[in-house]
Amino acid sequence: MAEPVSALFNTYARFPITLVRGDGTRLYDDTGKEYLDFMAGLAVTSLGHAPQVVKERLVAQLDELWHCSNLFSHPNQEKLAQLLTENSSADAVFFCNSGAEANEAAIKLARRYHSKVVGTGKFEIITFHQSFHGRTLATLTATGQDKVKDGYLPLPEGFVHAPFNDVEALEGYITDKTCAIMLEMIQAEGGILEAEPAFVQEIVRLCKKHDLLLIVDEVQTGMGRTGKLFAHQHYGIEPDIFTLAKALASGFPMGAMLGKEKLKAAFTPGSHASTFGGTPIATAAAIATVETMLADKLPERAAELGDYLIGKLEESLAGNAYVKVIRGKGLIIGIECAAPVAEDVAAIHKQGLLVVSAGPNVIRLLPSLIITKDDIDQAVEIIAGVLAGHKTVASGV
Ligand SMILES: *Cc1c(COP(=O)(O)O)cnc(C)c1O
Repeated sequence: MAEPVSALFNTYARFPITLVRGDGTRLYDDTGKEYLDFMAGLAVTSLGHAPQVVKERLVAQLDELWHCSNLFSHPNQEKLAQLLTENSSADAVFFCNSGAEANEAAIKLARRYHSKVVGTGKFEIITFHQSFHGRTLATLTATGQDKVKDGYLPLPEGFVHAPFNDVEALEGYITDKTCAIMLEMIQAEGGILEAEPAFVQEIVRLCKKHDLLLIVDEVQTGMGRTGKLFAHQHYGIEPDIFTLAKALASGFPMGAMLGKEKLKAAFTPGSHASTFGGTPIATAAAIATVETMLADKLPERAAELGDYLIGKLEESLAGNAYVKVIRGKGLIIGIECAAPVAEDVAAIHKQGLLVVSAGPNVIRLLPSLIITKDDIDQAVEIIAGVLAGHKTVASGV
């Protein structure tokens, strides 16, 4: 029987798998096949699928109030903002629904601060090659990859792209219009590329020298994944602005833009808004998520299990010439291979392990932070088994 024609826009190159159920670290497809999940909905379901603590808070909130408009106060928003600011260097939070929307808010805040508070009207933002910041017109313009811009001209003005980790070159990109530098501490979509400490120190120095705001996109790296609650905390820096989304509410759509005290004056009533930003339901899911991450020390767990996972991968893939380098921090890990990995990813899926690529040649591992050593052993065995098929090719035998 022919498949019915899909009524969806064809925006995703989907894997040939239809998922219908998730439980903890496992997912199940429509044939009942079980998968070990090392993707976590792209760094979203960090507490695993359908976590009981979040479910209980959500169900309780569903009985109370779903939505009331941001023209009213709701205690959940205040509580979540307190939680996030008490556990970071930020002083204020704006809630929204996605990573792109959080970055859009960050871009707007940086421009408005320079226009209304400092009064310079500087508006240019420096971002980096291979970066990824979202799919709205401003955030795809900020993104340092041409493929997301194809067919969308004209793009908004005010974004400049500099080479990542190039300490020497950076200052040359600053002009009298520059208002901010925006980066991911680990470029995730770009291939799991870490910002080098010396590069980050240079960014901090230049931000001070030229009165620029430092914006860190923590949409993928935030919420414990790298081994600290926020990836920038590894560097001992305090960004002026940082953004969150993916794992913030365990799969309930939610984004947040966080900023320092001095930026509060830039946003006044009516200057920015979002109908669904921080609804009672979304904030209930996020409060349960953040409280669980802190109580169960999931960032520390991510650091420990990430080291274990990298160690296992290095051990099992040693001597495989197809594997170029294994890199990452905590539970965001990339295996860079000598050729495009699309077929390897498909073969790994067939073996019951869900992984995703990051750029053409990198297999990306993003398990939930509740993964066990047993899960890791199983995953590494599957990955090593599939990549072993390349040994003969790579060595030319
Ligand atoms: C996923 C991602 C975004 C975009 O988030 P959406 O919720 O898809 O809009 C932005 N920045 C980074 C670093 C991301 O990984």
